[in-house]
Amino acid sequence: MSTALPLHLSDGELVAAVARLAGSERAATVALIAHLAELYGRRLHERAGFSSLFTYCMEVLRLSEQEAYDRMKAAKLARRFPAILELLTSRRINLTTVRLLAPHLTRDNCAVLLAETSGKRKRQVQELLARRFPQPVPAASIRKVPARSGAPVVGSSAGAPAAVGVDPTHEGSPPTVTPAASAPPRPPQTRPVVEPLAPDQYRFAFTAGGEARELFDLARDLLRHAVPSGDPGEIFTRALKRLVEDLVKEKYAVTSRPGRSGGQAEDSRNIPAEVKRAVFVRDRGRCAYLAPDRRRYGERAFVEFHHVRPHAAGGRPTSSNISLRCRAHNDYEAEVFYGPAKRDAGTEVMREAAGRYERGTDDTFLFRPETEMVVSGPRDTAARTG
Ligand SMILES: [Zn+2]
Repeated sequence: MSTALPLHLSDGELVAAVARLAGSERAATVALIAHLAELYGRRLHERAGFSSLFTYCMEVLRLSEQEAYDRMKAAKLARRFPAILELLTSRRINLTTVRLLAPHLTRDNCAVLLAETSGKRKRQVQELLARRFPQPVPAASIRKVPARSGAPVVGSSAGAPAAVGVDPTHEGSPPTVTPAASAPPRPPQTRPVVEPLAPDQYRFAFTAGGEARELFDLARDLLRHAVPSGDPGEIFTRALKRLVEDLVKEKYAVTSRPGRSGGQAEDSRNIPAEVKRAVFVRDRGRCAYLAPDRRRYGERAFVEFHHVRPHAAGGRPTSSNISLRCRAHNDYEAEVFYGPAKRDAGTEVMREAAGRYERGTDDTFLFRPETEMVVSGPRDTAARTG
Protein backbone atom coordinates (compact mmCIF):
# COMPACT_ATOMS: atom_id res chain seq x y z
CA MET A 1 0.00 0.00 0.00
CA SER A 2 1.31 3.39 -0.96
CA THR A 3 2.01 5.97 1.72
CA ALA A 4 2.32 8.86 -0.70
CA LEU A 5 -0.46 11.40 -1.09
CA PRO A 6 -2.98 10.04 -3.62
CA LEU A 7 -2.62 12.98 -5.96
CA HIS A 8 -3.44 10.92 -9.02
CA LEU A 9 -6.97 9.97 -7.93
CA SER A 10 -10.05 11.68 -9.30
CA ASP A 11 -12.48 13.14 -6.74
CA GLY A 12 -14.81 10.15 -7.14
CA GLU A 13 -11.97 7.66 -6.73
CA LEU A 14 -10.71 9.56 -3.68
CA VAL A 15 -14.09 9.47 -1.93
CA ALA A 16 -14.45 5.77 -2.73
CA ALA A 17 -10.92 5.03 -1.52
CA VAL A 18 -11.49 6.85 1.77
CA ALA A 19 -14.66 4.82 2.40
CA ARG A 20 -12.88 1.58 1.54
CA LEU A 21 -9.91 2.39 3.78
CA ALA A 22 -12.13 3.33 6.71
CA GLY A 23 -13.82 -0.04 6.29
CA SER A 24 -10.56 -1.96 6.27
CA GLU A 25 -9.27 0.02 9.24
CA ARG A 26 -12.38 -0.95 11.19
CA ALA A 27 -12.05 -4.59 10.16
CA ALA A 28 -8.38 -4.60 11.14
CA THR A 29 -9.15 -3.07 14.53
CA VAL A 30 -11.84 -5.63 15.30
CA ALA A 31 -9.54 -8.47 14.20
CA LEU A 32 -6.80 -7.06 16.46
CA ILE A 33 -9.22 -6.96 19.39
CA ALA A 34 -10.31 -10.56 18.78
CA HIS A 35 -6.68 -11.70 18.65
CA LEU A 36 -5.76 -9.69 21.75
CA ALA A 37 -8.65 -11.36 23.55
CA GLU A 38 -7.18 -14.76 22.75
CA LEU A 39 -3.64 -13.65 23.57
CA TYR A 40 -4.91 -12.44 26.93
CA GLY A 41 -6.67 -15.75 27.54
CA ARG A 42 -3.42 -17.65 26.89
CA ARG A 43 -1.54 -15.18 29.13
CA LEU A 44 1.02 -14.61 26.43
CA HIS A 45 1.52 -11.01 27.54
CA GLU A 46 2.61 -12.31 30.92
CA ARG A 47 4.95 -14.79 29.34
CA ALA A 48 6.44 -11.86 27.42
CA GLY A 49 7.07 -10.11 30.73
CA PHE A 50 4.16 -7.71 31.03
CA SER A 51 1.82 -7.66 33.96
CA SER A 52 -1.04 -6.21 31.96
CA LEU A 53 -2.39 -6.34 28.45
CA PHE A 54 -2.45 -2.56 28.56
CA THR A 55 1.31 -2.21 28.99
CA TYR A 56 1.86 -4.97 26.44
CA CYS A 57 -0.13 -2.97 23.89
CA MET A 58 1.85 0.17 24.67
CA GLU A 59 5.32 -1.33 24.87
CA VAL A 60 5.22 -4.10 22.29
CA LEU A 61 2.60 -2.86 19.85
CA ARG A 62 3.57 0.81 20.28
CA LEU A 63 -0.06 1.86 20.62
CA SER A 64 -0.87 5.16 22.22
CA GLU A 65 -2.25 5.15 25.75
CA GLN A 66 -5.79 5.75 24.56
CA GLU A 67 -5.57 3.16 21.78
CA ALA A 68 -4.09 0.61 24.15
CA TYR A 69 -6.72 1.24 26.80
CA ASP A 70 -9.67 1.02 24.41
CA ARG A 71 -8.41 -2.16 22.76
CA MET A 72 -7.54 -3.79 26.07
CA LYS A 73 -11.02 -3.04 27.44
CA ALA A 74 -12.74 -4.29 24.29
CA ALA A 75 -10.63 -7.46 24.16
CA LYS A 76 -11.43 -8.40 27.76
CA LEU A 77 -15.09 -7.65 27.29
CA ALA A 78 -15.25 -9.60 24.02
CA ARG A 79 -14.10 -12.70 25.88
CA ARG A 80 -17.23 -12.55 27.99
CA PHE A 81 -19.55 -11.08 25.35
CA PRO A 82 -18.41 -12.16 21.88
CA ALA A 83 -21.37 -10.33 20.31
CA ILE A 84 -19.39 -7.15 20.80
CA LEU A 85 -17.07 -8.07 17.93
CA GLU A 86 -19.97 -8.29 15.52
CA LEU A 87 -21.42 -4.98 16.72
CA LEU A 88 -18.03 -3.29 16.35
CA THR A 89 -17.66 -4.64 12.84
CA SER A 90 -21.04 -3.31 11.78
CA ARG A 91 -20.29 0.04 13.46
CA ARG A 92 -23.39 -0.26 15.63
CA ILE A 93 -21.19 0.41 18.63
CA ASN A 94 -17.72 1.89 18.81
CA LEU A 95 -14.82 1.51 21.21
CA THR A 96 -15.97 4.46 23.31
CA THR A 97 -19.33 2.78 23.88
CA VAL A 98 -17.57 -0.45 24.79
CA ARG A 99 -15.41 1.39 27.33
CA LEU A 100 -18.45 3.07 28.88
CA LEU A 101 -20.41 -0.19 29.00
CA ALA A 102 -17.57 -2.25 30.43
CA PRO A 103 -18.30 -1.76 34.15
CA HIS A 104 -22.01 -2.45 33.72
CA LEU A 105 -22.37 -5.41 31.36
CA THR A 106 -23.58 -8.68 32.81
CA ARG A 107 -24.92 -11.85 31.25
CA ASP A 108 -28.42 -10.75 32.20
CA ASN A 109 -28.35 -7.24 30.82
CA CYS A 110 -25.92 -7.50 27.90
CA ALA A 111 -28.53 -8.13 25.20
CA VAL A 112 -30.65 -5.18 26.33
CA LEU A 113 -27.74 -2.80 26.94
CA LEU A 114 -26.02 -3.56 23.65
CA ALA A 115 -29.28 -3.07 21.78
CA GLU A 116 -30.07 0.17 23.58
CA THR A 117 -26.66 1.69 22.99
CA SER A 118 -26.48 0.68 19.34
CA GLY A 119 -26.05 3.69 17.12
CA LYS A 120 -25.87 6.07 20.09
CA ARG A 121 -23.35 8.84 20.57
CA LYS A 122 -21.09 9.01 23.58
CA ARG A 123 -23.22 11.51 25.43
CA GLN A 124 -26.41 9.53 24.79
CA VAL A 125 -24.71 6.39 26.10
CA GLN A 126 -23.56 8.27 29.20
CA GLU A 127 -27.07 9.59 29.84
CA LEU A 128 -28.55 6.14 29.34
CA LEU A 129 -26.11 4.57 31.78
CA ALA A 130 -26.72 7.33 34.32
CA ARG A 131 -30.43 6.56 34.16
CA ARG A 132 -29.99 2.82 34.48
CA PHE A 133 -27.14 2.87 36.96
CA PRO A 134 -27.43 6.08 38.96
CA GLN A 135 -24.25 6.67 40.90
CA PRO A 136 -24.04 8.16 44.34
CA VAL A 137 -23.43 11.86 44.08
CA PRO A 138 -20.03 12.55 45.60
CA ALA A 139 -19.43 15.43 47.94
CA ALA A 140 -18.24 18.56 46.22
CA SER A 141 -14.55 19.17 46.47
CA ILE A 142 -11.97 21.69 45.47
CA ARG A 143 -8.44 20.39 45.35
CA LYS A 144 -5.13 21.94 44.69
CA VAL A 145 -3.55 20.40 41.63
CA PRO A 146 -0.27 18.73 42.52
CA ALA A 147 2.43 20.44 40.57
CA ARG A 148 3.36 18.19 37.66
CA SER A 149 3.24 15.00 39.64
CA GLY A 150 1.76 11.69 38.62
CA ALA A 151 -1.67 11.94 40.12
CA PRO A 152 -4.35 13.25 37.80
CA VAL A 153 -6.59 15.96 39.16
CA VAL A 154 -9.71 14.11 38.31
CA GLY A 155 -10.52 10.57 39.29
CA SER A 156 -11.59 9.06 36.05
CA SER A 157 -14.47 6.71 36.50
CA ALA A 158 -15.27 7.40 32.86
CA GLY A 159 -12.30 5.26 32.09
CA ALA A 160 -10.12 7.75 30.31
CA PRO A 161 -6.58 6.56 29.98
CA ALA A 162 -5.71 7.63 33.49
CA ALA A 163 -5.59 3.90 33.96
CA VAL A 164 -1.88 3.53 34.25
CA GLY A 165 -2.18 1.44 37.36
CA VAL A 166 -4.99 -0.79 36.16
CA ASP A 167 -4.85 -4.28 37.49
CA PRO A 168 -5.76 -6.60 34.63
CA THR A 169 -7.11 -9.23 36.97
CA HIS A 170 -9.93 -6.95 38.07
CA GLU A 171 -11.97 -7.18 34.95
CA GLY A 172 -14.83 -4.77 34.72
CA SER A 173 -13.87 -2.70 37.72
CA PRO A 174 -13.29 0.96 37.03
CA PRO A 175 -9.66 1.98 36.72
CA THR A 176 -7.98 2.91 39.94
CA VAL A 177 -5.77 5.89 39.61
CA THR A 178 -2.80 4.79 41.57
CA PRO A 179 0.43 5.87 40.00
CA ALA A 180 2.40 2.67 40.22
CA ALA A 181 6.13 2.82 40.71
CA SER A 182 6.71 1.59 37.18
CA ALA A 183 4.21 3.98 35.63
CA PRO A 184 5.61 6.92 33.74
CA PRO A 185 4.83 10.30 35.32
CA ARG A 186 1.73 11.84 33.84
CA PRO A 187 0.91 15.49 33.39
CA PRO A 188 -2.06 16.62 35.47
CA GLN A 189 -5.25 15.77 33.67
CA THR A 190 -6.74 19.09 32.74
CA ARG A 191 -9.40 17.88 30.35
CA PRO A 192 -12.70 19.18 31.71
CA VAL A 193 -15.28 16.61 32.66
CA VAL A 194 -19.05 16.90 32.61
CA GLU A 195 -20.27 13.46 33.46
CA PRO A 196 -23.87 12.43 34.05
CA LEU A 197 -24.16 10.51 37.31
CA ALA A 198 -27.89 10.08 37.69
CA PRO A 199 -30.96 11.73 36.22
CA ASP A 200 -30.45 15.50 36.60
CA GLN A 201 -27.15 15.01 38.39
CA TYR A 202 -23.85 15.81 36.74
CA ARG A 203 -20.31 15.78 37.97
CA PHE A 204 -18.28 18.76 36.80
CA ALA A 205 -14.53 18.70 37.04
CA PHE A 206 -12.22 21.34 35.71
CA THR A 207 -9.09 23.21 36.58
CA ALA A 208 -9.09 26.94 37.16
CA GLY A 209 -6.63 29.48 38.44
CA GLY A 210 -6.14 31.25 41.74
CA GLU A 211 -8.39 34.13 40.74
CA ALA A 212 -11.29 31.73 40.27
CA ARG A 213 -10.58 30.27 43.68
CA GLU A 214 -10.63 33.73 45.31
CA LEU A 215 -13.81 34.73 43.48
CA PHE A 216 -15.43 31.46 44.46
CA ASP A 217 -14.60 31.96 48.12
CA LEU A 218 -15.85 35.53 47.95
CA ALA A 219 -19.13 34.46 46.33
CA ARG A 220 -19.58 31.75 48.94
CA ASP A 221 -19.08 34.29 51.72
CA LEU A 222 -21.50 36.72 50.15
CA LEU A 223 -24.04 33.93 49.73
CA ARG A 224 -23.69 32.69 53.28
CA HIS A 225 -27.35 33.41 54.04
CA ALA A 226 -28.84 32.26 50.75
CA VAL A 227 -26.65 29.15 50.49
CA PRO A 228 -25.66 28.25 54.04
CA SER A 229 -24.16 24.94 52.94
CA GLY A 230 -21.77 26.73 50.59
CA ASP A 231 -22.56 24.03 48.05
CA PRO A 232 -20.29 24.66 45.02
CA GLY A 233 -22.91 23.26 42.65
CA GLU A 234 -25.47 25.79 43.84
CA ILE A 235 -22.96 28.66 43.68
CA PHE A 236 -21.83 27.57 40.23
CA THR A 237 -25.44 27.46 39.00
CA ARG A 238 -26.17 30.93 40.36
CA ALA A 239 -23.00 32.30 38.81
CA LEU A 240 -23.87 30.82 35.42
CA LYS A 241 -27.40 32.21 35.57
CA ARG A 242 -26.01 35.69 36.16
CA LEU A 243 -23.46 35.23 33.40
CA VAL A 244 -26.09 34.08 30.93
CA GLU A 245 -28.32 37.02 31.87
CA ASP A 246 -25.44 39.41 31.25
CA LEU A 247 -24.52 37.82 27.95
CA VAL A 248 -28.10 37.81 26.74
CA LYS A 249 -28.40 41.45 27.77
CA GLU A 250 -25.39 42.25 25.60
CA LYS A 251 -26.70 40.16 22.75
CA TYR A 252 -30.17 41.71 22.77
CA ALA A 253 -29.47 45.16 24.06
CA VAL A 254 -32.27 47.70 23.98
CA THR A 255 -31.40 49.91 21.06
CA SER A 256 -32.38 53.40 22.06
CA ARG A 257 -33.24 55.35 18.96
CA PRO A 258 -33.49 59.08 19.36
CA GLY A 259 -36.96 60.43 18.67
CA ARG A 260 -38.58 57.09 19.31
CA SER A 261 -39.25 57.13 22.99
CA GLY A 262 -41.96 55.24 24.74
CA GLY A 263 -41.20 51.85 23.27
CA GLN A 264 -42.94 50.11 20.45
CA ALA A 265 -46.59 49.89 19.68
CA GLU A 266 -48.12 46.73 21.03
CA ASP A 267 -49.01 45.32 17.66
CA SER A 268 -45.62 45.99 16.18
CA ARG A 269 -43.88 43.20 14.38
CA ASN A 270 -40.69 44.26 16.13
CA ILE A 271 -39.91 42.19 19.14
CA PRO A 272 -38.88 44.21 22.19
CA ALA A 273 -35.42 43.48 23.56
CA GLU A 274 -36.75 42.37 26.94
CA VAL A 275 -39.01 39.83 25.23
CA LYS A 276 -36.06 38.53 23.22
CA ARG A 277 -33.98 38.15 26.35
CA ALA A 278 -36.73 36.35 28.26
CA VAL A 279 -37.49 34.02 25.34
CA PHE A 280 -33.84 33.26 24.67
CA VAL A 281 -33.25 32.25 28.29
CA ARG A 282 -36.55 30.35 28.56
CA ASP A 283 -35.90 28.35 25.39
CA ARG A 284 -32.26 27.90 26.44
CA GLY A 285 -31.02 29.37 23.18
CA ARG A 286 -32.30 26.38 21.24
CA CYS A 287 -34.92 25.72 18.63
CA ALA A 288 -38.12 24.99 20.57
CA TYR A 289 -39.83 23.21 17.71
CA LEU A 290 -41.53 20.04 18.88
CA ALA A 291 -41.68 17.27 16.32
CA PRO A 292 -44.98 15.40 15.93
CA ASP A 293 -43.51 12.61 18.05
CA ARG A 294 -43.05 15.26 20.76
CA ARG A 295 -39.31 15.08 20.55
CA ARG A 296 -37.39 18.29 20.64
CA TYR A 297 -34.14 18.27 18.75
CA GLY A 298 -33.13 21.71 19.95
CA GLU A 299 -30.82 22.94 17.23
CA ARG A 300 -28.53 25.67 18.60
CA ALA A 301 -27.15 27.20 15.43
CA PHE A 302 -28.82 30.20 13.77
CA VAL A 303 -31.83 30.45 16.03
CA GLU A 304 -34.43 33.06 15.22
CA PHE A 305 -37.40 34.57 17.00
CA HIS A 306 -40.60 33.04 15.77
CA HIS A 307 -44.17 34.32 16.15
CA VAL A 308 -46.22 31.32 17.30
CA ARG A 309 -49.38 33.01 16.13
CA PRO A 310 -48.10 34.92 13.14
CA HIS A 311 -47.98 38.66 13.15
CA ALA A 312 -50.31 38.72 10.15
CA ALA A 313 -52.84 36.66 12.08
CA GLY A 314 -52.82 39.06 15.00
CA GLY A 315 -49.95 37.50 16.93
CA ARG A 316 -48.29 39.89 19.36
CA PRO A 317 -44.59 40.15 20.12
CA THR A 318 -45.00 39.01 23.71
CA SER A 319 -42.94 36.33 25.38
CA SER A 320 -45.89 33.96 25.36
CA ASN A 321 -46.23 34.28 21.60
CA ILE A 322 -42.53 34.35 20.71
CA SER A 323 -40.47 31.20 20.65
CA LEU A 324 -37.04 30.28 19.32
CA ARG A 325 -36.71 28.38 16.08
CA CYS A 326 -33.80 27.29 14.01
CA ARG A 327 -33.84 28.77 10.54
CA ALA A 328 -35.19 25.59 8.96
CA HIS A 329 -38.15 25.35 11.35
CA ASN A 330 -38.89 29.06 11.21
CA ASP A 331 -39.02 28.75 7.43
CA TYR A 332 -41.03 25.57 7.57
CA GLU A 333 -43.69 26.98 9.86
CA ALA A 334 -43.83 30.30 8.03
CA GLU A 335 -44.36 28.44 4.82
CA VAL A 336 -47.18 26.40 6.26
CA PHE A 337 -48.83 29.61 7.45
CA TYR A 338 -48.14 31.98 4.65
CA GLY A 339 -47.98 29.53 1.78
CA PRO A 340 -51.68 28.59 1.70
CA ALA A 341 -52.74 32.07 2.72
CA LYS A 342 -50.95 33.54 -0.24
CA ARG A 343 -52.18 30.89 -2.59
CA ASP A 344 -55.79 30.94 -1.49
CA ALA A 345 -55.85 34.57 -0.44
CA GLY A 346 -57.95 33.48 2.48
CA THR A 347 -57.35 34.48 6.06
CA GLU A 348 -59.63 31.64 7.19
CA VAL A 349 -56.99 29.14 6.23
CA MET A 350 -54.39 31.02 8.15
CA ARG A 351 -56.51 31.29 11.23
CA GLU A 352 -57.24 27.62 11.14
CA ALA A 353 -53.55 26.88 10.86
CA ALA A 354 -52.79 29.15 13.79
CA GLY A 355 -55.26 27.23 15.91
CA ARG A 356 -53.33 24.09 15.41
CA TYR A 357 -50.55 25.05 17.74
CA GLU A 358 -50.73 23.59 21.17
CA ARG A 359 -48.89 24.83 24.14
CA GLY A 360 -46.85 21.89 25.33
CA THR A 361 -45.27 21.31 28.68
CA ASP A 362 -42.25 23.34 29.62
CA ASP A 363 -43.59 26.42 27.82
CA THR A 364 -42.84 25.02 24.40
CA PHE A 365 -45.23 24.83 21.52
CA LEU A 366 -46.32 21.75 19.71
CA PHE A 367 -46.89 22.18 16.04
CA ARG A 368 -49.64 19.85 14.88
CA PRO A 369 -48.71 18.30 11.54
CA GLU A 370 -52.38 18.18 10.52
CA THR A 371 -51.86 21.78 9.52
CA GLU A 372 -50.19 20.45 6.45
CA MET A 373 -53.57 19.29 5.25
CA VAL A 374 -54.50 22.85 4.38
CA VAL A 375 -51.42 23.16 2.23
CA SER A 376 -52.19 22.65 -1.41
CA GLY A 377 -49.80 21.50 -4.09
CA PRO A 378 -46.68 19.35 -3.90
CA ARG A 379 -44.32 20.45 -1.16
CA ASP A 380 -40.93 19.37 -0.02
CA THR A 381 -41.22 20.44 3.57
CA ALA A 382 -40.35 16.99 4.87
CA ALA A 383 -36.77 17.41 3.77
CA ARG A 384 -36.49 20.71 5.58
CA THR A 385 -37.75 19.82 9.00
CA GLY A 386 -34.48 18.55 10.34
ZN1 LIG B 1 -35.46 23.50 14.60
